Order: sequence, then C-alpha cells, then structure tokens
Amino acid sequence: MSSIVERADVVIVGAGFTGLSAALELKRAGIDFLVVEARDRVGGRVEAIRNGLGELIDSGGQFFCEDMPEITALARARGKTFVKTYVDGEFITYPSMSAVKTERMYRTAMAIRERMNRIEPDDPAITGLSVADWLERQQDEADAKAGFRSMIEGLWCLPLHKVPLWYLIDNDRRITNEVPELQYSLGETMQSLADDLASDLGDRLRPNEPVMRIEHGVQSVRVATPSGLIEAQAVLVAVPPATAAKLAFAPALPPALSKALGVWESGAVIKMLVRYARPFWRERDLSGMVMWRDLPGLFACDASQDAGHAALTVFVGGPRALRWRQLGETALRAEVTARLVDALGPQAADIVDFSSRDWTNDRWSGGAYSDLIVDVMAHDAERIILAGAPPVYFAASEVSPSFPGYVEGAIVAGRIAAAKIQSAIATSASGS
Ligand SMILES: Cc1cc2nc3c(=O)[nH]c(=O)nc-3n(C[C@H](O)[C@H](O)[C@H](O)COP(=O)(O)OP(=O)(O)OC[C@H]3O[C@@H](n4cnc5c(N)ncnc54)[C@H](O)[C@@H]3O)c2cc1C
Repeated sequence: MSSIVERADVVIVGAGFTGLSAALELKRAGIDFLVVEARDRVGGRVEAIRNGLGELIDSGGQFFCEDMPEITALARARGKTFVKTYVDGEFITYPSMSAVKTERMYRTAMAIRERMNRIEPDDPAITGLSVADWLERQQDEADAKAGFRSMIEGLWCLPLHKVPLWYLIDNDRRITNEVPELQYSLGETMQSLADDLASDLGDRLRPNEPVMRIEHGVQSVRVATPSGLIEAQAVLVAVPPATAAKLAFAPALPPALSKALGVWESGAVIKMLVRYARPFWRERDLSGMVMWRDLPGLFACDASQDAGHAALTVFVGGPRALRWRQLGETALRAEVTARLVDALGPQAADIVDFSSRDWTNDRWSGGAYSDLIVDVMAHDAERIILAGAPPVYFAASEVSPSFPGYVEGAIVAGRIAAAKIQSAIATSASGS
C-alpha cells in the first residue's frame, strides 16, 4: 500500500498546453494545485529537439495564425519572436500539373469541404456514414476527390473510412481561421512557450511522475504515481482521450464515461525537418509548399527561420505514416529525399541535415496531431467526457469548443476545465 506523500486542492495529470493553461488559471484563482507529468519535460505534443547541426527545432506543434487569439496573445505576452512562414511563389502538386490546374484542384477540394460542412452534423440522412462513404457518393471529378482526400487525411491523419462524417463536420466547423494556420511559428520554438508557462508553476510541477491509477470517492481523489499517493479534492486528467482510456480508475468510471473515452483513435504523423544551405525553391519562384497527389498524407512547406536558415518541414500523416514508420531512419530519409527531388528538382538532394520525429503510437500522447472519434454512433462522447465524473474531470485539445487538435484548442480547453473545477470547489466550500 502506498502512503499519501502530498496533498493539494487539485491534481492535474499532464503538462501539455491543456494542463499548463489549467494550472495557471487555478494559480490565478488562488487554488492550490499540483501538476504531475509522465515525461521529463513539459509541452506534451509540443516538443523541441536538437537537429544534427545543434539547432533547436519544433518536432511537435509549431504553427499558428492571428485567427487563434489565445496562442497569439500568450506568445506576445511572453515576448516571443513571430516568424512569418514564407508562402510567396507557386504551390505545387506532384505529379505536376499546370499552376492553373493546381489552383482549380485546390479550389474544388475546398468546395467539397465547404459542401460537407454545410450538412448539419445531426442530419438523419448521414447517420452511420463515414467520410469515405459520403465522398464516394459525390459527383466530383476523381482529381478533386483525390485532392479532398489528401487534404483531410493530411490534416486529421486517419483514413477517411474510419472517420464518422458527423464528427468531421462538427470538428471542422470549430476550426474557424480564415488566415492560413501555417502563418507563424516562434523563433524560440513553441516548446519554449510551454517552458515559460511551466516556470510560473515553480515546485507545483512534477515531471517524471507518470500517473498509474486514480482512486476516487464523492469528495476526494487519490492519484497514484511512482512516488506515492497524492490526495486532492479533484483531479483534472489533461491527457488525450485515447490515453485517458488507458488509465486505471478505482472504482471503475461510470460505463457511459468509459465507453466515451474508448471511442477515440489517435492520428498518425511523422514530422521531418530538412535543412538546406539555401532556400533553392525560392529561386524558382516556388513557395516550397508541395502536396503529393499520388501519396495522400504527404505534405511539405517552407520552415526557414531567416535568410541564413533554409528548411522544409515535411509531414507524413495517416496510413502512410504507419507504413513509413517501419522503414527506419535511413530508408525514411531516402524515401522523402526521392519525393522532394521528384517535386522540387535535384537540388532537393543536397540536404544539410535531416531530422525526424515519429509520433505514431507515442507512449504518452497516443499519436498526432490529435485523437479522433472513430465510432459512427458516438455522438454523445464529447459531452460525456466534458461532464466527467466529479471530482474526476477531463480536458484535452480534442474536446475544445474552438480549434480542437491545435495548441489554441488546448489553451481554451484547459481554461474551461479550470473554471469548472474552481466553481465546484467554491460550491463545495460554501455548502460545508
Ligand atoms: C507533429 C505534430 C505537429 C503538430 N502541429 C501543430 C501545429 O503546427 N499547430 C498547432 O496548433 N497544433 C499542432 N499540433 C497539435 C498540438 O500540438 C496539440 O493539439 C496540443 O499540443 C495538445 O495539447 P494537450 O495538452 O491537449 O495534449 P498533450 O500535449 O498530449 O499533453 C498531454 C500531456 O499528458 C502527459 N501524460 C500522458 N499520460 C500521462 C500519465 N499517465 N501521467 C502523467 N502525465 C501523462 C503527456 O506526457 C503530455 O505531456 C501538432 C502535434 C504534433 C504531434
């Protein structure tokens, strides 16, 4: 039997942006909290690694835009350097098409997406349909459908036949930016912002403390970590739903809540940063943005920091990421280099550094960019998760009312959860 090693009003499990933003909110309200994090660092799906040149690069969440108010305000308040993503020049698709055809394909794929989003998620006519089922019924040209599929698999990172149509519509409607989401990254890395938030938490943050079990009663919880039990009035499980589903709860969670946590599957992404001596694509009036029509889920964009730092970020998402993860680093590099040469020419082989981060089946986040609901009947899952089983509460970017699956969504989700817990604690204090 472990003994109680510590007490706090609230324990927050997970120091991703959801957990960090909840913690800062509780701190502002004067509520005592403890954040326990499994990894040796904060940030979760936001992470920075050093590439072979010793440069710090974002290997997880990185980009944002001015239509995402919380992340923009936070980065400004912390004095971060906004690096504008280079987008001038031609966006190309491979196998190559004329600029006019590419533009038309993109517009038609977007039109399919807009048509999809005009359907009401609760329309009985779409009951039981996956996105793939719906797409098959559309009358668009094969090229436009392939463009739509590539766009959706690249953004949500699961095959379309797994994703319920109502879920994608509901999710996509919450992603409301009009400015492209790749507009900015931070010169100091997004991870540095997570570190700044963590530094405000002082010793109320405990890294290297994976939570193994949560015991819960009517008015208290006990959270078990390798160091012992932490007793609190409430716990906020700030981890993605599919990861939360793997935690042990005693007693077991109510069946509807267990079921709601069990209907999610993590997307699959490998993120790569390819450094060059020069941004050679710009010399040919190319933006560096490439979408491979023959390889859905593969996408590249310019990620240069300044004139002296030329780089492309390459993402492979969805089923292809699961296949390419088996290649190993050397073969993955060869595969990606060959694709970049196809699209951008022989200079793409003159790589100065190639770094990759495989997020498929990540131990503590499940995958990336986010978990998605894969049960066509699970319309109530988010509502049930958000209600939680007080004093056990749940939050993650996935269940945010705005920008689910983004850092912005995580900040919003954390704040909402903290407000809910704060009010529950206030109610219980006034009632006792
Ligand atoms: C490769 C990649 C690229 C992305 N690109 C972008 C982008 O450009 N822009 C954008 O806005 N978003 C992007 N995202 C998504 C964004 O990073 C996430 O939506 C957001 O960071 C999620 O935050 P979160 O706190 O909800 O979850 P997480 O970041 O997953 O945080 C959960 C935390 O809980 C911890 N944890 C899990 N289990 C336990 C346990 N048992 N005990 C204790 N701790 C535990 C984890 O270690 C983690 O720190 C990207 C993600 C990835 C991986």
